[in-house]
Amino acid sequence: MRILVTGGAGFIGSNFVHYVLNAHEDDEVITLDALTYAGSKDNLEGVLDDPRHEFVEGNIRDRELVTDLAADVDAIVNFAAESHVDRSIEGAKPFVTTNVQGTQTLLDAAKQNDIERFLQISTDEVYGQILDGKFSEDDSLNPRNPYSATKASADLLARSFHTTHDLPVLITRTCNNFGPRQHPEKLIPKFIQNAAAGETLPVYGDGSNVREWIHVEDNCRALDIVLREGEIGEVYNIGSHAEKTNLEVTRAILDAVGASENLIEFVEDRAGHDQRYALETEKIEALGWEPEYSFEEGLERTVDYYLD
Ligand code: NAD
Repeated sequence: MRILVTGGAGFIGSNFVHYVLNAHEDDEVITLDALTYAGSKDNLEGVLDDPRHEFVEGNIRDRELVTDLAADVDAIVNFAAESHVDRSIEGAKPFVTTNVQGTQTLLDAAKQNDIERFLQISTDEVYGQILDGKFSEDDSLNPRNPYSATKASADLLARSFHTTHDLPVLITRTCNNFGPRQHPEKLIPKFIQNAAAGETLPVYGDGSNVREWIHVEDNCRALDIVLREGEIGEVYNIGSHAEKTNLEVTRAILDAVGASENLIEFVEDRAGHDQRYALETEKIEALGWEPEYSFEEGLERTVDYYLD
């Protein structure tokens, strides 16, 4: 398979590029990334010289560029996005231009080039919060912050291209990822670095918000299975069932780093902070996938990675 991976210099995208090139020796990958503050070619160290891999610096909104690139591949996996909720609260515009308009540009290019598989990377946040129970793929979307609203728009646009134009779209909605190559603005790498430096760990509100955490390698394996074996037009939740409050994650990090709980600082809650997300995962499990990392083992490895 020849795959165009957008946003492949970011956290999950780069892990996915490494995963595919390792797992499938006949595959070729073109990574397209605008190298915003969140992307770095360093994340692709080890594959930049691989003859099966090509890096292209560019924007998913560049219609001419993405149409040219789409002509040369079998599949597109769209990771490219503005991904940080706090930044979307400060200003939603880049979230609309990249997450919505960028996805539309890619969908147009895929349609024009008769792409065989288009995998749109969505998120559990598109469902909104759930206090009890878990979201299934058929639940309606109820995003509550500007980031998740733009991701829901992209998710629905991708589905509409399948229904309207018969484009071979697949959608995945994954819970919170952690692991190597994540930008230090995100909770786990930031807290590991703060704890190691003896700086405070700012916890929103009372720390009771619950997230489901998956190791990025488990997510990449699931995404790869959906790309190759998923049923066209379907949505797949990808979750670990490892639910933790933010305070539990914070304490686990302090424990792993060997730092004092006195570093915890409760700060004013994030506006519109979703209380809990949780996913049903029967559909992805029916494709033979299950997570390999427990939260504890994944966190131990992640702490070692960032401390190194
Ligand atoms: P990230 O911010 O680490 O990476 C995003 C990448 O996209 C960066 O390399 C950036 O340079 C690139 N990019 C941004 N705008 C672009 C544009 N206009 N054109 C081309 N490239 C552009 O994000 P991430 O955490 O790796 O998330 C990847 C995808 O997975 C996103 O779509 C996100 O919504 C989704 N997702 C993330 C999580 C998570 O826990 N991180 C969970 C579920 C879904």
